[in-house]
Amino acid sequence: MSRFLHSRYQNMEPYTPGEQPQERKYIKLNTNESPYAPSPRVLEAINRTEAEQLRLYSDPEARALVNAIAHRYGVDRSQVMVGNGSDEILAFCYMAFGERGFRYPQISYGFYPVFAETFGVDGQAVALKEDFTIDIDDYKNAGRTVLIANPNAPTGICLSRSQVEEIVASNPDDVVIVDEAYVDFGGESSVGLLSKYDNLVVVQTFSKSRNLAGARLGFALTSPELAEDLNKMKFSFNPYNVNRLSIVAGAAAMEDEAYFQECTGRIRKTREKTAQFLSDLGFTVLPSSANFLFVKPGTMGGTEYFTRLREEGILVRHWSDPRIVDFVRVTIGSEEEMERFCMVTKILVEG
Ligand code: PMP
Repeated sequence: MSRFLHSRYQNMEPYTPGEQPQERKYIKLNTNESPYAPSPRVLEAINRTEAEQLRLYSDPEARALVNAIAHRYGVDRSQVMVGNGSDEILAFCYMAFGERGFRYPQISYGFYPVFAETFGVDGQAVALKEDFTIDIDDYKNAGRTVLIANPNAPTGICLSRSQVEEIVASNPDDVVIVDEAYVDFGGESSVGLLSKYDNLVVVQTFSKSRNLAGARLGFALTSPELAEDLNKMKFSFNPYNVNRLSIVAGAAAMEDEAYFQECTGRIRKTREKTAQFLSDLGFTVLPSSANFLFVKPGTMGGTEYFTRLREEGILVRHWSDPRIVDFVRVTIGSEEEMERFCMVTKILVEG
């Protein structure tokens, strides 16, 4: 740290992203990316002609992308806001709606408390129940902005739309943000509630179910008024936040519904097969509606399992938080990758 750093940030603990190894080739099951390539339509769309246009700034309103999203979700364009990953959308939410503080679950996406620090927002973390589910009563009449990942991460457990609705309905004077990064793998989306509530922000991403983590694309679906607030943040920070190629890629991905269904369907099938295999081996496997499994081996600690998988060339995610130290989060990879993962796991467990 230099002597120039703003005193506000001197004790800040930044977010630690999952490893992106550049040398050794691992089976990468640690950052919830898709094992499948982007839609063929994306590959066609980001062609030489588009690349030549890179000398020009991107459309600050990202109209091609906003239109494709609005069409897919049956909302008005004024209800869509796009960002450089959903991380950026969440950052805009903290900037815009943080005045009275945020409340989010204690075990959830690790970036939530970091954003609170970054933006000087009072972040209140509420413990999950013993079974790792969210107690919706903890989020009713919150008196502050509510932020919930649904399905939650890293547990993979989801709330029903009616449970989310209870939270939204009980906070008419506060914003409720539902982070649906993983919803396309089996969760129940709250997008349908937008016609009834003006205090709801649904955040989604292209990083998981649309196979475009490297394009950095996320979006919010909300009321026109809240979208306007989020845009105010964006135009006060980075007006060209989504680059030209990502606008084109995102629009093409959003239009390829068949490919989206195929990829998410395959991942769900592989997830169920892997979950069954691990349960049969004596693992605790939380019920996942996401593209990952949160699992605890019956015969060894989480740290040992993580380390031994790594030695075998398989990367998963592990946290030192005592409540989840014996769990690891395993992204669902391709069918072949998961076969290898299961085989290695069986050997490690059975010795
Ligand atoms: N929300 C949750 C719950 C996540 O796990 C992630 C991925 N790390 C994100 C948001 C951010 O994803 P991205 O910025 O790639 O859209």
